[in-house]
Amino acid sequence: MQTPAADGTPAAIANAIANAHAWFEHHSGWAPPDPDTLGEWVDDGVCRCPDDCLVTPDGWCEHGLASWWLILGAEPWPPARDRDGRRPGTGASR
Ligand SMILES: [Zn+2]
Repeated sequence: MQTPAADGTPAAIANAIANAHAWFEHHSGWAPPDPDTLGEWVDDGVCRCPDDCLVTPDGWCEHGLASWWLILGAEPWPPARDRDGRRPGTGASR
């Protein structure tokens, strides 16, 4: 497993994500964070890696594992959609 250079290039990010997937195959007991937890982390400018290291949302840890935010698809933050998917102003009763 190689530690990618922290230069944030797409290749380096892909490498970190690949490292994380390789890590999944050799470890058990991990679980992805739920969206609320992930949101709280990113709000604070941090994120966890699968091995529990604390990193930046778009980064990876010293072991080369990408943050959950990167692993789970690197959605733009904040999310464009309303959490419950409702549209405002539809004239519902109250
Ligand atoms: Zn780590």
